[in-house]
Amino acid sequence: MANSLNFSKLKRFFGLILLGLLFTRSQTKQNTQWGFAGHQRINEFAVYLLPAEVQAVFIQHLPYLISQSVAPDQRRYAVEAEAARHYIDLDHYYHKGQDPFWNLPQNWQEAIDCHSEDTLQAYGIVPWHVLRMKYRLQKAFETQDLALILKYAAEIGHYIADAHVPLHTTENYNGQLTNQYGIHGLWESRLIELQAENYNYWIGKATYLPSVQKAIWAAVRASHVALDSVLQFEKKVSTELGLSEKYAYEQRGSTLTKVYSRKFCDAYHKSLNGMVERRLRAAILMVSSVWYTAWVDAGQPGLSQLKLQTDQKNDLSENDSILKTHSRWKQRSCH
Ligand SMILES: [Zn+2]
Repeated sequence: MANSLNFSKLKRFFGLILLGLLFTRSQTKQNTQWGFAGHQRINEFAVYLLPAEVQAVFIQHLPYLISQSVAPDQRRYAVEAEAARHYIDLDHYYHKGQDPFWNLPQNWQEAIDCHSEDTLQAYGIVPWHVLRMKYRLQKAFETQDLALILKYAAEIGHYIADAHVPLHTTENYNGQLTNQYGIHGLWESRLIELQAENYNYWIGKATYLPSVQKAIWAAVRASHVALDSVLQFEKKVSTELGLSEKYAYEQRGSTLTKVYSRKFCDAYHKSLNGMVERRLRAAILMVSSVWYTAWVDAGQPGLSQLKLQTDQKNDLSENDSILKTHSRWKQRSCH
C-alpha cells in the first residue's frame, strides 16, 4: 500500500525531473555524469524503497534529496579533490586478459601501500569514497543531525550512482581513445532522457548490507564487465546507420544543437538489451540499501522528532528552489 502511494508521488515528480535535465544541461557546457536527470531519479526512487521509519523523514525532504543528488558534480571544478571521487580507471591497474582486481586491494590503506595515494587519486577513488561517505552518514544518524543526514544521504547517492556507470570505470571514459567521443553523455544522459520513462521501477525494498565495501566493489566490477558492450555496440550501430543517421539537430532555445538522433539512440538502446535500465535499477537499490544500512549501523535511532534549525531550513529551501525554476522549461523533442 505504501508503495502505491509513493509511486503516485513519484509520478508527480517525473515531469520535474525531465524538465530538470533541460535546465541543468543548458547551464553546463559539458556534463559527463549519469546526467542530472539520472542522478535525480536515482535518489528519488531510492527513497521509495526505504522502510517506513526512515522513509517518513526522507520523504519530507524529497526535493532536497533530489536537487542535491547533483551537488558533487556542481562543485567538482571548484574543489580540487572532488573529481577523483566520481570514477575509478580500473584499466590502469591491469593488462588485457588479467582480472582487473587481482592487484587492487579493496582496503584503502592496503591500496595505498600497493600503489601510493597519488596514484589512487590520479585514477579515481569512487569505491573508497562511498565507504567514507557511508561512515559519515552513519555518524550523522548517531548524532541525530538531520541537516547532515540529508546532505550525506543525497551525496552518497551521487557517488553510488556514478559507480554503476560502465564508463566511470575506464580511462576511455568518453570514447576518446577509440574514436567514440561523446559516448559518455550518450549512454548516461541521452538514453536516460529518451527511455527512462519506460523503465520498470518496481525494484523491491532496501536490504541491510553486511559489507558495504563488498557491495560497492561488486557494483564497480559489474559496471566494468559491461564496458566492452557499451563500446562495441556503439561502434556496431554507428557502422550500420552511418553518420547521416547517427546525428540530428535539435532546437534548444535559440540554438540549433547537434545531438545523437532518435533513431540511433533507439537502435543503440535496443542493442544494449536493457543494460541501462539494469544499471539504473541496481543503483537505486544500492543507494536505498546503503542509507538503510547506515541507519541500522547507527543503532536505528528514532527520526520522527528530528527537526532542522531555522538557518538550516533556509539552506534547504535555497537548494530546493532549483526544482521550482525548472517549471519554465519545456520538454525538448528528438528528431
Ligand atoms: Zn559524478
